[in-house]
Amino acid sequence: MTIALSEPTLGGNEARYLAECIESTYVSSVGPFVGRFEADFARRTGSRFAVACASGTAALHLALLAAGVRPGDEVMVSDLTFIASANAAVYCGAAVTLVDSERETWNIDPDLVVAELERRRAAGERQPAAIVAVHVLGQPAKMDRLVAVAGELGVAVVEDAAEALGARWRDGRHGDREVGTLGLVGCFSFNGNKIITSGGGGMVVTDHEALASTVRHLSTQARLPGLEYSHDAVGFNYRLTNLAAAVGLAQLEQLDRFLDARRAIARRYDEAFAAATAVTLPPDVEWSLRSGWMYTVLLPDRDERLRVTDRLRSAGVEARPIWVPLHLQAPYRDAPVLGGAVGTDLAARAISLPSSAHLTSSDQERVIEVVLDAVR
Ligand SMILES: *Cc1c(COP(=O)(O)O)cnc(C)c1O
Repeated sequence: MTIALSEPTLGGNEARYLAECIESTYVSSVGPFVGRFEADFARRTGSRFAVACASGTAALHLALLAAGVRPGDEVMVSDLTFIASANAAVYCGAAVTLVDSERETWNIDPDLVVAELERRRAAGERQPAAIVAVHVLGQPAKMDRLVAVAGELGVAVVEDAAEALGARWRDGRHGDREVGTLGLVGCFSFNGNKIITSGGGGMVVTDHEALASTVRHLSTQARLPGLEYSHDAVGFNYRLTNLAAAVGLAQLEQLDRFLDARRAIARRYDEAFAAATAVTLPPDVEWSLRSGWMYTVLLPDRDERLRVTDRLRSAGVEARPIWVPLHLQAPYRDAPVLGGAVGTDLAARAISLPSSAHLTSSDQERVIEVVLDAVR
């Protein structure tokens, strides 16, 4: 049996809530689980509003539209991320500018962004409409100066927290804050491999009432209240179904357990690989608490990464590279890039290891043994 990379753990009320949907015949996007999932999610993240969507990608698309991104605008996005972070900007008709990572968190480099925004301010040049800050692999990005400078210039900061549900920013003065609530609007994913799943789905969170109602309106075909089919804009069929929300709610009830388990797995890997000189541990910085979504280490170079991946796979351990940086992907080959090749270097060397919440300690021991043996 192969040890999987990141599988859903379905041990709670999922089946019971699904049966309730079927018995009540509320299976579509009208039904009580959607509202309950949204209310509990808002409470859990400390946001005033949460709007459930059909996917994390749909959540990002609507968040960018509601933040005011229009055709011909520019959106800055991390170069090292899953492609949906950038695609959502293109769906809005915007042009994407890619930003390199910094080495401490592997996330968007705030120095590059701030320097560019300040250069443009001095030169009187047009600013981007939005910046998508992704918290890759569940490690919070450096948000403080990015949010402060973007705020001064009227640039919206949209957080792609798809991999980071439960991760926190430790603000010494104001206490911990959940990622997704640090910018103007935050987006989450409930795809099957994420920290919690609804089979497929996403959530937009924000403290801004008008923004939340725009997202909600656009997600339901921009249909106006009343019996007639009256619409005031071109909307989308992006609402989460009651069936999916039932699973999502049952998963959310178990979130603390999942986070504890994933973080314990990450700590155990950290301890096991600390002495291995060929292995660079993932970010774990003191001003943040990672979600532990996907445990990913760096090997000395790409060849080593390929060799160790093969060794793991033939030993029945699922291991994977992270993403090809966006500037190397066909749709973004011509996009302007801020910065150098940090993300490219990280992507060449990164290998993700099994991180499911229900990974047993004997399975984890086996993964550790195979890795240590392969790099020895
Ligand atoms: C998973 C993911 C998404 C997209 O979420 P879906 O629910 O699969 O549409 C977006 N951004 C990042 C960083 C992701 O990991």
